[in-house]
Amino acid sequence: MELSRRSFLKLSGAGIGVTALAQLGFSATALAASEELRISEATETTTVCPYCSVGCSAIVSVKDGKIVGLEGLPDSPINRASLCSKGQSIYQVANNDRRLTKVLYRAPGGTDWEEKTWEEAIPRIARLIKDTRDATFVETEEIEGVKVTANRCEGIAQLGGAALDNEECYLASKFARGLGLVYIEHQARI
Ligand code: SF4
Repeated sequence: MELSRRSFLKLSGAGIGVTALAQLGFSATALAASEELRISEATETTTVCPYCSVGCSAIVSVKDGKIVGLEGLPDSPINRASLCSKGQSIYQVANNDRRLTKVLYRAPGGTDWEEKTWEEAIPRIARLIKDTRDATFVETEEIEGVKVTANRCEGIAQLGGAALDNEECYLASKFARGLGLVYIEHQARI
C-alpha cells in the first residue's frame, strides 16, 4: 500500500491514542468515539498563510461551512507541516463574527456607517479614481531646464496586503501602474 507521510502520521496518531486508552481500561464505545476525529467528514483544502512573505502552506478542514481544523502542510518544502503562532491563527480570518462581509460607507463628515451594495460601491469607487487621476495627473515636468515626459498620477496611492497571492499582486500592480501610480507599497514590506 502506498502510504504518504501525512497518512502515516494520521494512522500512527490514531493508533497511539487507541492503545493508550485501552491500557487505561476504556470501553469499546469510548475507544470508537476516540477515533471520531473532529475533522472526520470535513473537506480538506490547501491554502497559503497570508501573514508574511515566507508563504507557509496549510491544510484547512471545513465542515458545515465552518473551519474545524488547521494544520501545516507536510508536503510543503517551505514549512514542512510547521506553522508559527500567526499562521496557526489564520482560521480566525474566516471564523470571526467581526469579519466585514458587506460594504460599509461613511459619508464625508458623517459619523455613521451605512450598508451599501457592490452595485452602488463599484461605480462610485471607479468615478472617484477617474476624477482623482484626471485632477492629479502629471504629463510632463522640467528637469534641469529640460521638459521631459512624466505621465504619473500623484493623487492616489495603493497599498497591497499579504493576503494577496502572487498572481493577484501582479494584476493589482499592473493595474496601478497602468493608471500611472507611483506610490505603490505592500503591507509585508512596512
Ligand atoms: S505561518 Fe508564520 S512564518 Fe509562515 S507565512 Fe504565516 S506568518 Fe509567515
